Amino acid sequence: MTDTFGRKHTYLRISLTERCNLRCTYCMPADGISLSPKEHLMTADEIFVIASEFVRLGVTKIRLTGGEPLVRKDFPIILEKLASLPVEISITTNGVLVKRFLPLLKKHGIKVITISLDSLEKEKFHKITRRDEYEKVWKTIQLLISEGIKVKLNIVLIKGFNDNEIIDFINLTKSQNLIIRFIEFMPFDGNQWNKDKLVCHQEIIDQVHYTFPLQLKRLKDAPNDTARNYAIKGYKGSFAIISSVTNPFCDTCNRIRLTADGKLKNCLFSQDEVSLLQPLRTNQSILPMVEKAMKNKFATRGGMDTSEKLENPELHSQNRSMITIGG
Ligand code: SAM
Ligand code: SF4
Repeated sequence: MTDTFGRKHTYLRISLTERCNLRCTYCMPADGISLSPKEHLMTADEIFVIASEFVRLGVTKIRLTGGEPLVRKDFPIILEKLASLPVEISITTNGVLVKRFLPLLKKHGIKVITISLDSLEKEKFHKITRRDEYEKVWKTIQLLISEGIKVKLNIVLIKGFNDNEIIDFINLTKSQNLIIRFIEFMPFDGNQWNKDKLVCHQEIIDQVHYTFPLQLKRLKDAPNDTARNYAIKGYKGSFAIISSVTNPFCDTCNRIRLTADGKLKNCLFSQDEVSLLQPLRTNQSILPMVEKAMKNKFATRGGMDTSEKLENPELHSQNRSMITIGG
């Protein structure tokens, strides 16, 4: 799966559901989304067939996401099936249901869990997620660490809301082997994005330099990593900055995305999508659709290659809301 820019696609992100037990303001429009009818969504078997085909085509890593992947009732069956494939499996979750599924996740060899947590303050957590689950998520993070699971924390930074917590998050890495990942707020349909809410890479680095002069260490990034990685000298954990808006990482992109309704998106920002579920259900090969997606992939952010295009609400509102893409 090589696109016209020579990028090889080895990383598939599968959204298992459009549903979620939280309502994050940056992800889900205030008036909710209209959910796809159940019969339009991939079944566990269909997910397995499509994923198997992608593994045959060269995918070596699958991430399960959503909506909230753990609200899907047949999650154990899906995980069981996918774990039989020769791929690394990972998961991004809001953490609310992780404790219940921990034995299952461990059984299938999941050693790293990415959890979204945008604030270390209970009230702010409630404000952003519109739900009161802070304590449960925080206790789960501590449980995972004590069980030897590596935890990555995803934090969407929003100016004036949680950018005053950057150092608090980094301080967590002093004694805990956590990876803190600051993500720039990205525009999607209905999420009230505007560029004044962005906290960019340089602002984060400036704050860190101010608090830890001479202690900031730049770490080596893994190949195809979307994050720039750093640590504070002497601290156990590390932190990273994912700047998809101000400094996109498109030239090394190896990702494709499968939505819960079986559409292949060649880029998080692309408006284009091709259905794989439809050919699958009519006994046709999905290959021509995969080839089409590869051929149509833009060099940068689904064709939004300038900040003017990215800031144009008419363009980003043509994309799905994040909750139906899968992060
Ligand atoms: N429910 C799971 C969770 O919250 O981790 C998985 C799905 S969520 C859509 C995946 C990731 O996308 C989360 O880390 C979330 O913070 C991130 N995300 C959602 N909307 C975003 C936005 N507008 N800008 C940047 N990141 C966003
Ligand atoms: Fe749900 Fe995750 Fe979106 Fe929050 S970011 S609404 S937890 S899918």
